[in-house]
Amino acid sequence: MKEYDVLIVGGGPIGIACALEAQKKGLRYVVLEKGCIANSLYNYPLNMTFFSTSEKLEIDGIPFISIKSKPQRAEALEYYRRIVTSNNLDLHLFEEVRHIEKEENSFSVSSSKTVYKTKRVIIATGFYDIPNKIGVPGEELPKVSHYYRDPHYYAGQKVIVVGASNSSVDAALEIYRKGGDVTMVVRGEQIGRRVKYWVRPDIENRIAEGAVTAHFQSNIKEIREEEVIINTPEGEKRLPNDFVLALTGYRPDFGFLEKIGVQLSDDGKFYPSYDPETMETNVEGLYLAGVICGGVDTHLWFIENSRVHAKLIIKDIFRKHSEAVTE
Ligand code: FAD
Repeated sequence: MKEYDVLIVGGGPIGIACALEAQKKGLRYVVLEKGCIANSLYNYPLNMTFFSTSEKLEIDGIPFISIKSKPQRAEALEYYRRIVTSNNLDLHLFEEVRHIEKEENSFSVSSSKTVYKTKRVIIATGFYDIPNKIGVPGEELPKVSHYYRDPHYYAGQKVIVVGASNSSVDAALEIYRKGGDVTMVVRGEQIGRRVKYWVRPDIENRIAEGAVTAHFQSNIKEIREEEVIINTPEGEKRLPNDFVLALTGYRPDFGFLEKIGVQLSDDGKFYPSYDPETMETNVEGLYLAGVICGGVDTHLWFIENSRVHAKLIIKDIFRKHSEAVTE
């Protein structure tokens, strides 16, 4: 069995940044990624535009050139893929990590393909795999989706978009512009306050002119084959419906962290315990990187502000590795 100095779980932007840094320091590393390179970004809506300008998504100062200041999903995939291929980073794709066991001075990591031995582990598994369910009858119907891809599919259809975050607003506007009949069902009193400042007037004006219908302070009560029942301040309403996009956010796999022994806060936020100077958790030799560091608050960490995790972690690992070598 090949032994590694560090095994990185997750080949998203932050896992890739960690791999690049580990390679620069001459550490024996491997990245295990359950899907393709930057799998979460690959699964984002096809026409998605980042809220960050391209230089803020760069890793290790490698220029990210995009046509407009805010890049699109396809440009980001080009960028992160080229970093992997040009630097020959060691990513094992379509290989899921299933179990991590702490041993005396190392870890045993079981994947869908084999078992690895490694001195240290970095978890950079993101948050995009587990949707927050709305928890109502009918949510399992095939017409309900927690992911949005492309507006064409919904042309001529009655679509309910649940939520008023960036994802919901982008989907509502795109579908409306491709001929879908869009109704937003929003828990709060208005469009989410974190919605991109250049998108907000667009959705507010479409709602004001009646092009997109919005029910604020409203909840889904039940989803049926041909209609959806909602609770509104004016009472219960039945909306004829073809598709429901429940874009109510995603959450990291807390069970995965707990099984390895990472302490999570018990206030319902599931904040993981780690040292912000090194990103090492309470499990010695196990580090967290990227969006997973924020517990349920998945807006706290994103590419822009978590790309620094790679340098913090690898600096700590390299120091400990060098000390062990000279001992
Ligand atoms: P991810 O990109 O989610 O990567 C995690 C990887 O781990 C995935 O590839 C996944 O397949 C893999 N994985 C998970 N579990 C396992 C396992 N058990 N074994 C092996 N592999 C596993 N951020 C910005 O900075 N700017 C923006 O403009 C921006 N726009 C966004 C727009 C949208 C619509 C969304 C949803 C997010 C946006 N973000 C933005 C947030 C940003 O995309 C995430 O914060 C970022 O992807 C975090 O990178 P990551 O590497 O931590 O996680």
